[in-house]
Amino acid sequence: MPEGHTIHRLALDHRERFEGRTIRATSPQGKFAAGAALIDGAVMDTAEAHGKHLFLGFGPDRWVHIHLGLFGKLGFGTAPPPPPTDTVRLRLTGHGHHADLRGPTTCALITDAEKRAIHDRLGPDPLRPGEDGDRAWRRISRSRTTVAALLLDQKVIAGVGNVYRAEVLFRHGIDPYLPGRDLRRDQWDAIWADLAALMREGVRNNRIDTVRPEHTPEAMGRPPRVDDHGGEVYVYRRTGAPCLLCGDAVRTAGLAARNLFWCPTCQPAAARP
Ligand SMILES: [Zn+2]
Repeated sequence: MPEGHTIHRLALDHRERFEGRTIRATSPQGKFAAGAALIDGAVMDTAEAHGKHLFLGFGPDRWVHIHLGLFGKLGFGTAPPPPPTDTVRLRLTGHGHHADLRGPTTCALITDAEKRAIHDRLGPDPLRPGEDGDRAWRRISRSRTTVAALLLDQKVIAGVGNVYRAEVLFRHGIDPYLPGRDLRRDQWDAIWADLAALMREGVRNNRIDTVRPEHTPEAMGRPPRVDDHGGEVYVYRRTGAPCLLCGDAVRTAGLAARNLFWCPTCQPAAARP
């Protein structure tokens, strides 16, 4: 599943191509035909993201709410576009560009109030302007749940996925099994600030890189990572490989239905207060 930086990048991609422009909208697959007809010929005011939710604005009370889920894809190209395949749920065309949405979990036309309700049930998103980690801290500091599970709970903090959760805990030397209520406030503030910085870089580069300058392949004289997700990371999907800091083998285990990755030496359970 894409992490929050990907959805914020898609919002930016929509704004760059379509903001302030009249859009033609169709649903070649037919499943969003009624919704597409209602925004066809409208101007896209804005596009924004909150966690893994994307919102395309077409004036008062007209938002297209998109959640890609596990299999959804959004692709861009120039206009006029090629004939659509029947898997395209929503095609937007305008001003020399087109965007094709395929296979989303959600693609629905919603009102301002319905959009507000979605924001209200999501935790703060480190990539949204004006958000801070206080609301997340109030939940984390009261919870017996592990900090690794809390970081993936979209009601606690929105947009963090499996890669950022593993990497940010490694970068701060925190045991992933530490209960939320045993995390210190200064540790949380550092995690929040680091997530915001890492995810902003993720939006910019459209990939996840989490290693510090001294641990890049060039700095360490090691081969670059080979993985379909691209970037340089410390522990994500590096099971059994030597930790870039201490050389110990990176471990993995299932937690909250997702694989967790960590270094037992750099993130010791003994570090619990
Ligand atoms: Zn280590």
